[in-house]
Amino acid sequence: MNGYGGKILRVNLTTGKITKEQTPADVARDFIGGRGFGAYFLYKEVPQGADPLGPDNKLIISSGPMSGLMIPGAGKCDFTTKSPLTGGYASASMGGHFTAEIKYAGLDSIILEGISPKPVYLFINDDKIELRDAKEFWGMGTISVEKQFKDKLGEEYQVAVIGPGGENVVPYACINHDFGRQAGRGGVGAVMGVKKVKAIVIHGTKSIPVSDTTAYRQAGKALYKACKDASFLAEWTRYGTTVVTSWCDEVGALPTRNFSAGSFEDGKNLYGSVMRDKIVITDKGCFGCPSPCGKYSRSKKYSSYVEGPEYETIGLMGSNLGISDIEAVAQANLLADDAGLDTISAGNAIGWAMECYENGIFTKTDTDGVDLRFGNVEATFELIGKISRKEGLGALLSEGVKKASQKIGKGSEKFAIHVKGMEQSAYATHNATAMLLAYMTCDVGAHHNRAWAITYDLQVGRDLVVPEKVARVIWLQNFRPMFDVLGGCRLQWVELGIDRDLYIPALEAITGIHRTWVDYEKVGERIWNLTRMFWARENNGFGRSWDLPAPRFYEEAPKSGATKGQITKIEDVHRLLDMYYEQRGWNKDGMPTPERLSALNLAELVA
Ligand code: SF4
Repeated sequence: MNGYGGKILRVNLTTGKITKEQTPADVARDFIGGRGFGAYFLYKEVPQGADPLGPDNKLIISSGPMSGLMIPGAGKCDFTTKSPLTGGYASASMGGHFTAEIKYAGLDSIILEGISPKPVYLFINDDKIELRDAKEFWGMGTISVEKQFKDKLGEEYQVAVIGPGGENVVPYACINHDFGRQAGRGGVGAVMGVKKVKAIVIHGTKSIPVSDTTAYRQAGKALYKACKDASFLAEWTRYGTTVVTSWCDEVGALPTRNFSAGSFEDGKNLYGSVMRDKIVITDKGCFGCPSPCGKYSRSKKYSSYVEGPEYETIGLMGSNLGISDIEAVAQANLLADDAGLDTISAGNAIGWAMECYENGIFTKTDTDGVDLRFGNVEATFELIGKISRKEGLGALLSEGVKKASQKIGKGSEKFAIHVKGMEQSAYATHNATAMLLAYMTCDVGAHHNRAWAITYDLQVGRDLVVPEKVARVIWLQNFRPMFDVLGGCRLQWVELGIDRDLYIPALEAITGIHRTWVDYEKVGERIWNLTRMFWARENNGFGRSWDLPAPRFYEEAPKSGATKGQITKIEDVHRLLDMYYEQRGWNKDGMPTPERLSALNLAELVA
């Protein structure tokens, strides 16, 4: 098939059996690749009620038809599994160079099944595929292990690796790659850890068939030219995602002290301009990227180097913890990356603990003697390590804020900022109804990247609760994740503002299949509905109540900052859901109707 590696690799870790099969053409037609393949194989192959940390769960790693080709940002890889954090669908996107090597090895997906009896790593060099002993690497941080593999095998090998967080099965452990890129959310690293797979190292030399080489080159060049001509290119490349830090602070979206406010009085110290001047030493990008958003930084204070911090980490491990020193945030970033922890969930968990401490729910007896106030940098560093080792207070925090707060009670549930058990990423949504709805209905929990709707809130009126906003969120949810399906980066479209229609001839030249964006959005909708069905299949009573946001956003207005005194009323939260379900063609409890499933060709799959 043009645009595809052509094979699915299955690795049964229990038996050690490694097999390849043809990438199914009908699945490629209906789900295209990447996140679509993940959703399909998860629903079809992971049995109902499977323990996310048991042998029946699978880790599905997929590239897309764009991956590894000369299309801007064609370096995104999807990791799908049943989440040990939420019990629902997890899909984490990772940039870098890993996905290109999957394609060059003649593969589209790697499916890890079962549980290995001992620590292993998966070695792939074209058709030489082996499970190798990983005893010598077990217990080590991600950065050291990746460096050892590069030294031993060569720079051309790409490495995806877990840290102690994954080994110790922290439900929000991530998978690291390229010394600073992560498949971050939903605990994909914990699933890899429980399967005892320390790393996947991969290198391939095969070519990827494309339908029309000349048209592909022309369309690729047009896309690169559009990026080069974009007026925002220089600023984006200078600051990367930290370009939004000051804006978020100004409009009250910067999570501050466990999301109790959206503006931080010391926020200026964390702005992109400060970071650039103070710690950034160079830019770093993914495969084929003309607009590298990665910032490689050096902290003199801590004598360390890290890729980052990017906006999400600045929000969650900076302002959300009352920390205003960009070097301290960079160091926390490094510690979390090396331990293999998602900085978003870890930052939330520590913020929750700090708020519990400041409100007397925790005393020093609970915090291992630490004065766990907001702003305590050393305590933050210490807790990152303890979470990854499940030690002391870290053991509780490692469970995620939903379970930890249910365990502790005493009103701490109100400080737990999550949807469906996934900690909220770095946009405070006290008065930004589209963004709030985007979090409420996101397919993995409170994650921003499906529908980044906060700019639309500011554009049309942040407190409006109108069908147009709901329609915008749904359109974004159907469209934006298509980049994860295609195996490429959305930021050239989002940030540089290049014309999305430029992708159409490129994709047609690659696959030989003509599809419009309307066609692709239909695939996006199909995946959205399938994953909703997965949530319902795996969780008794799943429905509207699962879509409610953290109470903080409808019960408690910020006492300071740009959103001081502002809140979204609970009646409006439900009105948003009513409109959302109706526009999605779902019933009043938020479940896809049989008619909708039929219209999306899902009836047979979910029957
Ligand atoms: Fe990677 Fe950033 Fe470039 Fe996207 S914009 S491909 S995330 S470096």
